[in-house]
Amino acid sequence: SASPAGTVPGPARLTVLAGPTAVGKGTVSADVRDRYPEVWLSVSATTRAPRPGEVDGVHYLFVSPEEFDRMVAEGQMLEWALVHGRNRYGTPRGPVEEHLAAGVPTLLEIDLQGARQVRESMPEAQFVFLAPPSWEELERRLVGRGTEDAEERERRLATARVELAAEAEFDVTIVNDEVRHATDRLVSFMGLAVGGNAQV
Ligand code: 5GP
Repeated sequence: SASPAGTVPGPARLTVLAGPTAVGKGTVSADVRDRYPEVWLSVSATTRAPRPGEVDGVHYLFVSPEEFDRMVAEGQMLEWALVHGRNRYGTPRGPVEEHLAAGVPTLLEIDLQGARQVRESMPEAQFVFLAPPSWEELERRLVGRGTEDAEERERRLATARVELAAEAEFDVTIVNDEVRHATDRLVSFMGLAVGGNAQV
């Protein structure tokens, strides 16, 4: 958003995007990165292996479990969580603080456990819940591939029900009906001009 002419922009606000598994948080945040370079998308550290096409330092900082332990022990993580009981993911604190201090609107795309930790340490942040268009749609996205057995499907659906209930903890809900629209609503909620044109 525009600041009055002649004033120095103050610290920017942190926005946290979270939501249930398979709702499309990754797709929406990638669309923000592509179309809104004025937003800085935090780069998380993770212990999982890179997927094809993922670039170290761009999509994630790929670190060993030992390196992750060290970052946590040194207090470098703003938040971190074990996601899906498998790999650890965390937000390095330093770059977030630097971008905010420089007035750059900053976005974290993290899981619900991480969002709760950020609320504890940075209550001034704003929290956006990305919701599926409907329960049926989320169910379809979760079981759609048909590669899981019945027990695994039930486990995912039970997790999704719990995750959907977290919506009440958030400041605003954005429905991920269509990615570009969800992205535009997110960016507009962050106080930025939609459309990619600088507005003065
Ligand atoms: P993926 O392995 O598919 O890239 O991400 C798996 C999950 O990890 C997603 O739900 C994503 O929101 C979450 N995640 C990614 N980075 C972070 C992070 O820094 N902190 C937390 N708590 N979760 C993260």
